[in-house]
Amino acid sequence: DHSHAVVIVGAGAGGVAVASSLKSRCPDLDIAIVEPNEVHYYQPGWTLVGGGVFNANDTVRTVASVIPNNVKWIKAGVAAFAPKENMIVVDGCRTIKYEHLVVCPGIKLDWNKVEGLSETLGENGVTSNYRFDLAPYTWELVKNLKKGKAVFTQPPMPIKCAGAPQKAMYMSCDHWFKEGVLNDINVEFYNTGAVLFGVKEYVPALMEYIKKYHANLNFEHQLVKVDGKAKVASFKKVAEPDAPLVETEFDMLHAVPPQSPPDFIKVSPIVDANGWIDVDQSTLQHKSFPNIFALGDAINAPNAKTAAAARMQAPVVANNLLYERGVQTDKAIYNGYGSCPLTVERGKVILAEFGYGGKILNSMPTWVLDGTKPSRLAWYLKEKLLPPIYWEGMLKGREWLAKPETQHINK
Ligand code: FAD
Repeated sequence: DHSHAVVIVGAGAGGVAVASSLKSRCPDLDIAIVEPNEVHYYQPGWTLVGGGVFNANDTVRTVASVIPNNVKWIKAGVAAFAPKENMIVVDGCRTIKYEHLVVCPGIKLDWNKVEGLSETLGENGVTSNYRFDLAPYTWELVKNLKKGKAVFTQPPMPIKCAGAPQKAMYMSCDHWFKEGVLNDINVEFYNTGAVLFGVKEYVPALMEYIKKYHANLNFEHQLVKVDGKAKVASFKKVAEPDAPLVETEFDMLHAVPPQSPPDFIKVSPIVDANGWIDVDQSTLQHKSFPNIFALGDAINAPNAKTAAAARMQAPVVANNLLYERGVQTDKAIYNGYGSCPLTVERGKVILAEFGYGGKILNSMPTWVLDGTKPSRLAWYLKEKLLPPIYWEGMLKGREWLAKPETQHINK
């Protein structure tokens, strides 16, 4: 019982998709998935919860309901890895052996790296779409704000869904615009980075919305401190770290926390010098331990950390793991695809789709959908199609939108 052909760490977007992908290729494979939580979140929905479009309950299901049939759920947290012994250690010092291991524990939200933030989240006008329980509070604040100052922040990269900090701003501004109160609200975006979006093709269309919403852009400013009671946010200047902090008052603050690899990953023998899981960016196979694969937000491949990326990675991992087991004859290649539907107003999305090196990878011909322009079709995709594609496609191993390139290997 304490040994399985395949062990998967984490039943999030990546873990459940890989389990299903493996089962759809190889129904008899003995798989166990290790996950301590009872619930599984559809995090891409949280932007729309904060924008008053989805209910929070639309974005959560029980882990039991998303794990595929005939996959064993080990309800525990993984504490350590012993890759030379083909073994992991779970809470309580139980060990589990594997022939192949898939690691996908997601990313850690470092709320405590911003002084005073944790204490005031959910009150004093301080919120974040990065937490299931707080995204509804974002919408409460947006509905109630009629005048004053709204501040939106973005931490250092890498983060999951790099567009989400500004999506929160656009959705809020769109509501204020339509309510006719935007002229009485001062909107500020403080980004630790130096650009609005990392792939330049999308910036001009985003800038049109920055102008429409008369939002002020403050680059290279990192949120380091929040005083909830006084309603003051403090920023470090990236270029002048020793200069006095820049302080600003707010009526509403949407904060996105700094992010890092989970602690048990960071200290493990399977990571690179920065603490991310060290994989080949094309095959997603571990660079030192060939019987380990990884995907999702915790890997060191330079793709955009999104569920869309995990959707493309899962069949690559399933294919290449089965190649290692002698079941599959071709290797699959991941091209770095990730996607970020930038919700610039209710009803329109700028659909950023790109791979390694910022190469644009549109999933539709541009005459149908030009991702660099705001589009109603892309909003429809985000609101109506992507949730069922996630729950019924990706999590069930039906890979409608995720056919990886394969490379024939002569054995
Ligand atoms: P997760 O889905 O986070 O799952 C990780 C799992 O590992 C969790 O179940 C966790 O409990 C488990 N785990 C953690 N520690 C352990 C342990 N010690 N042992 C065992 N299991 C453990 N993506 C998009 O594609 N489009 C979007 O529009 C989008 N918008 C987003 C908006 C917001 C506000 C947020 C927060 C995210 C958004 N994302 C979006 C990103 C997307 O949700 C993630 O990239 C995706 O969930 C990553 O999948 P994952 O499997 O790596 O991690």
